[in-house]
Amino acid sequence: MTIAQRIEQIRASLPAGVRLIGVTKGVSPDAMREAYEAGVRDFGENRLQEALVKQEQLKDLEGVQWHFIGHLQANKAKKTLLTFQWIHAVDNLELAQRIDRLAGELNIHPRVLLQIKPLPDPQKYGWENENILADLPALQLCQHLKFQGLMTILPLGLSSAEKLSAFEKVRDLSIKMGKELNYPLRELSMGMSGDYLPAVQADSTMVRLGTIIFGDRS
Ligand SMILES: *Cc1c(COP(=O)(O)O)cnc(C)c1O
Repeated sequence: MTIAQRIEQIRASLPAGVRLIGVTKGVSPDAMREAYEAGVRDFGENRLQEALVKQEQLKDLEGVQWHFIGHLQANKAKKTLLTFQWIHAVDNLELAQRIDRLAGELNIHPRVLLQIKPLPDPQKYGWENENILADLPALQLCQHLKFQGLMTILPLGLSSAEKLSAFEKVRDLSIKMGKELNYPLRELSMGMSGDYLPAVQADSTMVRLGTIIFGDRS
């Protein structure tokens, strides 16, 4: 199957309004052009240097939104804020405060998602589920950041039922946080190649798909 055919097939399984982010780490600019031709307008990258090269090679493509989905490193935060429209994985209060300060200096208002761990997972960054509620007052003071919602990456090896229940936990937390903040957190960045179907069942609004579109990364 071609990239375009895979995208078409995935689209058919997504509810209207779910944003399909093509995760393109390790993917060539030519393959990204194919995805663009098939209608993909959102690209997710997790390594800044690689992304900068491809952004330059693809700068003729109109209307592309770049999503930084990796762990944000302090020394690269400024450049990341300047070159990505969405920051998916703000995973602790200090990082939020640091990028808020930077955004203020740069006079920009990046769209930010907060990373949640619905299940204990020593390998992953993020707030452990409801622990984030204690940080809400401090997060609200980060006035240069536009908090759009929550993001999660599930641990490997879960059953379908466990995946669904973990995604639902994140969704329920986002509703609760929206009430405390007095504005809705609209976005849920949930679902990768192996778990996007339970993610959309739990109201994901953005799926981050790499392998299932572009094939295995070598
Ligand atoms: C690599 C990556 C993805 C895509 O993973 P696939 O399993 O290839 O779809 C999604 N989200 C993040 C944060 C990633 O690093």
